Amino acid sequence: MTIASFHCAGCGRVYRANRPLWRCDCGGHLNLASGRGFARGAIVTTDASLWRYAAALGLAGPPRVSLGEGWTPLVRRKWRGAEVHFKLESQMPTGSFKDRGTAVMLNHLIEVGVGPIHEDSSGNAGASIATYTAAAGIPCRIYVPAAAPHAKLVQIAASGADVRPIPGTRQDATEAALAATGESFYASHNWQPFFIEGTKTLAFELWEQLGFRVPDNILVPTGYGSNILGLERGFDELDSGGEIAARPRLFAVQAANCAAFAAAWSVGADRFVPFAAKPTVADGIATPKPVRIAEVLAALRRSRGGVVSVAEEEIAPALAALGRLGLFVEPTAATAGAALTRLLSDGTITADQTTVAVLTGSGLKAADRISELLGIGSGI
Ligand SMILES: [Zn+2]
Repeated sequence: MTIASFHCAGCGRVYRANRPLWRCDCGGHLNLASGRGFARGAIVTTDASLWRYAAALGLAGPPRVSLGEGWTPLVRRKWRGAEVHFKLESQMPTGSFKDRGTAVMLNHLIEVGVGPIHEDSSGNAGASIATYTAAAGIPCRIYVPAAAPHAKLVQIAASGADVRPIPGTRQDATEAALAATGESFYASHNWQPFFIEGTKTLAFELWEQLGFRVPDNILVPTGYGSNILGLERGFDELDSGGEIAARPRLFAVQAANCAAFAAAWSVGADRFVPFAAKPTVADGIATPKPVRIAEVLAALRRSRGGVVSVAEEEIAPALAALGRLGLFVEPTAATAGAALTRLLSDGTITADQTTVAVLTGSGLKAADRISELLGIGSGI
C-alpha cells in the first residue's frame, strides 16, 4: 500500500501523510491527492458500513476502530408533490453525518501514531470525535460553544471527553482550540483532509443505493462544506473509474442568519466575503468562517448547483413536515426540507428529476429546541 500524500492549498508544498499533520508550515490547509478512481467491482457487498468502499480510502490498512458507520437508509417520500429521496445520515452511530468523516480521519491518525487530541465543534463533530476516541482509547478534549444544544454537550461528556464550553460564537470555540495547539494534537475535522476522505463515501452510497445511478440534485445543509467536498471527490472517483457519465447538481443549504457561502455566492465571489452573522436555530451550520470556502464555492459552480439560504421562519414548518413523514431531525437538518420547498416552488428542481435531500442530524440532538419551535408543551 502506498502512503498517501497531502499538498498545501496555499503554497503547493507536498507532505507524505505518515505523521499527524493538521496544516502546512505556511498556515495553509492540506488536501489529499486525487483518488485512483473507483468501480463497482471493488465494493465489499457483505459489509453493511462505509467500509464496503475501503478499497477507495487512502488508509494503509483495515480500520482499527469502527462503530458500523455508513450505509445509512435512503427513503422515498412525497414533498410538495414530488418524490424525493431522503438520505438518513441522522441514523449514524452518534446521530449525525459526522461519523463518516470521523471514522476515516481517526483511523488515519491512529495509523500514523497520534496521541491525545483536541478539537472544536458546534456539537455534532465533537460528539462524534469524542465517541470514536473513547472507542479507540485516545484522550480527547472538545471546545464547543456554551450555547450548543444541551444534548450534544451531554453526549460529548458521556464519552469521557474533557468538554470545554466556550462563551460566544462558533468562531470563539475555534480560537480556543487553536490556542491549545501544542498541548495535544489539533484533530480538527474542518482542517483534516481525511475527514473529507470519509465523507466521499456518501457519493458512493447514493450511487449504489439508486441502482448505480447518479441523482440529478443533492441538497445538503452546509456549515463548513465537508459533505459538498466529499460528494465532489466521490463522484470524481466514480468518473475516473468509468462508472458515471453525468454529475449531480450540488446545492449547499444555509441558514440566512449565518450564511458565508450565500454571501459570497450572491455577489459572484470565489472567496470569503465579510457578512454579518446572527444566531440561528440551525446551530450545526452556523459557521462564520469556513476553512475551505473557495474550494466549496468552486465545487458548487462546477456542479451547476448553487447556494440556498433559508430564513429562520422557514425552518420550523420544514421540521414539522419532516416529522410527519417519519423523519425526526434536528433544526439544522430541517433546512434541507425548507430548501426543497424553495427549489421546487421556483422550478429550479422539478418532479421528474431524481433529487436527494441529506438529513444530517437526529432530532434527539435538540429535543428541547424542537419542543420550543413546534410549540410542543411539557404536558404531553
Ligand atoms: Zn503551504
